[in-house]
Amino acid sequence: MKTVGILALQGDFEAHRKAIERAGARAAEVRTAEQMNACDGLILPGGESTTMLKLLGLENLIEPLREFGQKKPIYGTCAGAILIAREVSHPAQPSLDLMDIGVERNAYGRQVDSHIAKISVDGNGGGELEAVFIRAPIIRRVGSGVRVLARHQGDPVWVEQGQHMATTFHPELTGDARVHQHFVEKL
Ligand code: GLN
Repeated sequence: MKTVGILALQGDFEAHRKAIERAGARAAEVRTAEQMNACDGLILPGGESTTMLKLLGLENLIEPLREFGQKKPIYGTCAGAILIAREVSHPAQPSLDLMDIGVERNAYGRQVDSHIAKISVDGNGGGELEAVFIRAPIIRRVGSGVRVLARHQGDPVWVEQGQHMATTFHPELTGDARVHQHFVEKL
């Protein structure tokens, strides 16, 4: 059975553990490079990307994470999507540049901090998915190598590029295992 590491420095890593197990893989919390390298793939959970970036720096995990991403799949959820993007705005901050996307942080504005929406899935046989957005970014740019798997209000909210994947919503908070299953298939 494959093992998916979940970066457990900050944010909602516990819900991802359950979602990965529902998708048929083993889950392991990751706090060191050694723990990371023992995994077949990695999830960067939601939370606060600025704080995560700071903690990644303090724990000397930035370089190991970049190297991991050269070989193995990474899935970024919300703050995690911000971390793996190429460009980050509103405000700008450094990122891992593992996917050719540009994201704008907290892009839905203060009044709609969080919302639940039915989104349409383009890939995976189509259909609808219930998506929870929490102070979510909007993906403003996708490079030519990026495939859009779902949109909300016209903007991409689930994208993949090679072995990597990102969502601006939180599939770990709903019972629907399709998004995690899609990631597990990449391992
Ligand atoms: N607003 C957060 C950020 O900019 C992301 C929110 C989330 O992960 N739910 O990092």
